[in-house]
Amino acid sequence: MMRRNRELSLLNTFIISTAAKLQTNRHAQDSLHHACAVLVQALDLAAAESWLLLDVHNELLQAAATASSAEAVSLSIPTAITYPLALRLTALESSSQWAYSGTPSDVAPVEAVEWLQRYHGQTYLLAPITIKGKLAGMITLLSSGNRQLDAQEHAFAQSLVSALSQAIETTLLHEQLQRHAEHLEEMVAMRTNELQAERDRTQAILEALGEAVIVTDAECTINYVNPSATILTGYSSGELLGRCWCAMQQDESASLLYWAIRDHVRTGKMWRGEVLSGRRDGSTYDAALTVAPIFDPQRTTTPIGMVSIQRDITPLKAAERTKDQFISNVSHELRTPLSIIALHSGNLDTLYERITDEQRRHLIREIRAQTHRLDDLIGDILELSRIDSGQLRVEDRPVNLAEILRQEVEQLRPLAERKGLQLALRVNESLILRGDPAHLGQCVRNLLSNAIKYTPHGGHIHCECRSMDMSDGPLNPQDWPDYSLTDAGSWVGLRVVDSGIGIGAEHMTHLFERFYRVQSQTRVPGTGLGLAITRELITRHGGWTAVSSEPGVGSTFAFYVPLTSESS
Ligand code: ADP
Repeated sequence: MMRRNRELSLLNTFIISTAAKLQTNRHAQDSLHHACAVLVQALDLAAAESWLLLDVHNELLQAAATASSAEAVSLSIPTAITYPLALRLTALESSSQWAYSGTPSDVAPVEAVEWLQRYHGQTYLLAPITIKGKLAGMITLLSSGNRQLDAQEHAFAQSLVSALSQAIETTLLHEQLQRHAEHLEEMVAMRTNELQAERDRTQAILEALGEAVIVTDAECTINYVNPSATILTGYSSGELLGRCWCAMQQDESASLLYWAIRDHVRTGKMWRGEVLSGRRDGSTYDAALTVAPIFDPQRTTTPIGMVSIQRDITPLKAAERTKDQFISNVSHELRTPLSIIALHSGNLDTLYERITDEQRRHLIREIRAQTHRLDDLIGDILELSRIDSGQLRVEDRPVNLAEILRQEVEQLRPLAERKGLQLALRVNESLILRGDPAHLGQCVRNLLSNAIKYTPHGGHIHCECRSMDMSDGPLNPQDWPDYSLTDAGSWVGLRVVDSGIGIGAEHMTHLFERFYRVQSQTRVPGTGLGLAITRELITRHGGWTAVSSEPGVGSTFAFYVPLTSESS
């Protein structure tokens, strides 16, 4: 009983100290040695030796302990097992059986015979260390002389070795878990890096995007804006972040629309359309707006936020409005002469017998005048639409502008003379530039015919064309409007000065707009398109148009185009 208690106490101490020491498999060798020493001491053995093959590092650990008795010291401790044999043995299935003393062939598996030969002639006991049901090592107990171990000693040895096996297995498991955790940690770090790289890339794209991108949470609170969004809205990102997306609109109807869009997107659907949005400073812009829900990949039913993408389409809308305005103006302008023609021809038809020859002639002349007006109008409209659609054929060759002016003046001179106007021309140079002679001729004709139209009987018109070299000193802005010294360079200027009715200051900025006509001058036939065409054509030559005028005194219309080196 005493012996039993002592063994139990030893076993207990061994288990506790092994569990405390065996933190990693690096301590396994100490534990093996400890187990051998405890067994030698408890069972009064001559010696004990052990080996263990840990598959983690495939390292063969060995340990030995000997009794201090003189008899035991004389015992030879066989050299430990070789690595290849240990490797072979560990392939054996669980061997919880004891191999008992005697001759090796009686007790041990064939794989072990070679190794057990070393113990031949000694009494020994083999206690297998098994890990996860497989043989991983062995403790060999050697008794002195022929002493046989009894059943209780066997049981004690078996318990101690299985406690050791258990402790090693737990340590290995622990290490395995540790490695797994480290691996997981590595994977998480790698994935985090990948996500960060992905995030950086997305961020770079969003920052460079021309469209304004605003992202909100489920409550519609803004949590991301890209730089284009701040440029478009005029708000800084600090002013936008944390703010409600719908509350960005100061205008009530725009705000209502934004709320409605938010409600729509909350149902999980996308919203696309054109909206008139407001900026921070109260100005408005047309935007093509797309608002899409953002879903949590785990829960695809309820959006967790939304992303709004806005493209500024103000110029596009302005062009559309100009086109609509143009079409409506064209229809209106065409209808006026057409209805006059319809009216007069109707009168001619119904009243022919009842009116005088003079009245008939008057109606016919009116019809002819309106037909001419229609013809002019259609010609101008076609010209403008060719310019707009880019179908205008533009020649690019050396042109002598002085010669063009001379020709146009001569062609329109009879018209001016019929009105009793003096028409003077000043061109003493050959002014060569690159351009389209027909278009430049048309521009000169437009300005000159306007001067004739809007100058009363007896007035005078002066046409001039010169190189703007400033050799005569600074030019008077009334004479050469919109030309300053800073423009000095290789330019050719052409002006038509008249002593006509002049134009009020309020009309000056509109004169070159399509269909613009000064109300008080609408008795004079015209389309309101001549100056618009002139401006377009001169712009295409790389130049610009200008005007100065004083009501009752007269007007100066001018254009400037670049001179080529061929004339300078
Ligand atoms: P229109 O066919 O009506 O002459 P334009 O585009 O050539 O069309 O001219 C636009 C308007 O500018 C004219 O209707 C007229 O009111 C004014 N205008 C043009 N040239 C002169 C000028 N030399 N003197 C006074 N008013 C002018």
